[in-house]
Amino acid sequence: DSVLKRDDPEIYAAMTGELGRQRDEIELIASENIVSPAVLAAQGSVLTNKYAEGYPGRRYYGGCEQVDIAERLAIDRAKALFGCDFANVQPHSGSQANQGAFMALVRPGDTVMGLSLAAGGHLTHGAAPNQSGKWFDAVQYGVRREDSLVDFDALSDLAEQHRPKLIIAGGSAYPRIFDFARFREIADNVGAYLMVDMAHFAGLVAGGVHPSPFPHAHIVTTTTHKTLRGPRGGMILTNDEAIAKKVNSAIFPGLQGGPLMHVVAAKAVAFGEALQPSFRAYAQSVKDNAELLASVLLDAGLDIVSGGTDTHVVLVDLRPKGLTGKLAEETLGRANITCNKNGVPFDPEKPTITSGIRLGSPAATTRGFGKAEFAQVGNLIAEVLDGASRHGEENGAAEASVREKVKALCQRFPIYPEL
Ligand code: PLP
Repeated sequence: DSVLKRDDPEIYAAMTGELGRQRDEIELIASENIVSPAVLAAQGSVLTNKYAEGYPGRRYYGGCEQVDIAERLAIDRAKALFGCDFANVQPHSGSQANQGAFMALVRPGDTVMGLSLAAGGHLTHGAAPNQSGKWFDAVQYGVRREDSLVDFDALSDLAEQHRPKLIIAGGSAYPRIFDFARFREIADNVGAYLMVDMAHFAGLVAGGVHPSPFPHAHIVTTTTHKTLRGPRGGMILTNDEAIAKKVNSAIFPGLQGGPLMHVVAAKAVAFGEALQPSFRAYAQSVKDNAELLASVLLDAGLDIVSGGTDTHVVLVDLRPKGLTGKLAEETLGRANITCNKNGVPFDPEKPTITSGIRLGSPAATTRGFGKAEFAQVGNLIAEVLDGASRHGEENGAAEASVREKVKALCQRFPIYPEL
């Protein structure tokens, strides 16, 4: 740290500022978390210097003995964590994991089906502006108007009609459990592969509080940095040997060059942490805290998409308070509560405005917030939003009052005291 301060004061200042932000704000972005000092140490290590194209024991560069150990540990721990036979831990991100799965299983022009962005899906599941929507014949399924759950009848009809090669289950703003068995049945009916993108809920699966996509999925992709609480990155899992071979070729040399070995090592560290009994308790708290937050916000007069949550995600529909997602994100941000605006199903507002905010419990749970703190967080959110309902953009009084309470709460649960 002191080296960085001396050699690059500008970056040092930005990093210090970011550490302060993370310390003093309640992080409710559902896709974020707070990694352990051990994960940080692996990621900021000399392993960044090493080229290691290929896989352990089969590299195109010399000097890979130590990074082979790190990658083998990451693979073995991933397999143990998710109870599967194969893991590729090299994807640089969740998007590249998905690209790798596509490259392994389908060809440009093939039909793929994913949950639409508007219903909580991810860009890489066939959205028009994404490569997955441009290079494939992407058909998007949605959710039911009455309960915001996946519309399996419509999904099944669409599958019959379009005969996709690949069906994707998973999303970024879907608060409920995907019925993997039902997805597999529909995929089998039309001879499609089932891919589960568990990026959001991987940590809940690892912690045993969410059903596993196995044995239903042919292939599973994930990020490693959300509920799983590892470094920013991706991973692909399967139990099928033929698919495994194709995945390895797709990631290298298909899509990537040298793996980020410092990140691979940090993945190994995070997986090791997730294998500990304490991670099961963490995952249970993440789920309990999200459920509690949803119920406090419901009581405060907000709508919760699907009526609640089975996961770490709470999707709030702000329309009962007459607010947009944009305004809510901004006013909460000024009160040191960080979240993101998010469309709700059948949202009348544009994606840059939206009628909702997406909240998530993983980061605040990591810093130690339990049910009492999440109840308080729910009330603080309601205080800010009620103020905004009355005063619009001029919500300074509520923002200032809540900001002080947020700072006091954060001080009771410090993060990275050693930094
Ligand atoms: N898949 C899902 C379901 C996601 O929510 C995300 C990220 O938000 C991704 C994939 C992409 O991950 P990354 O941002 O690492 O590319």
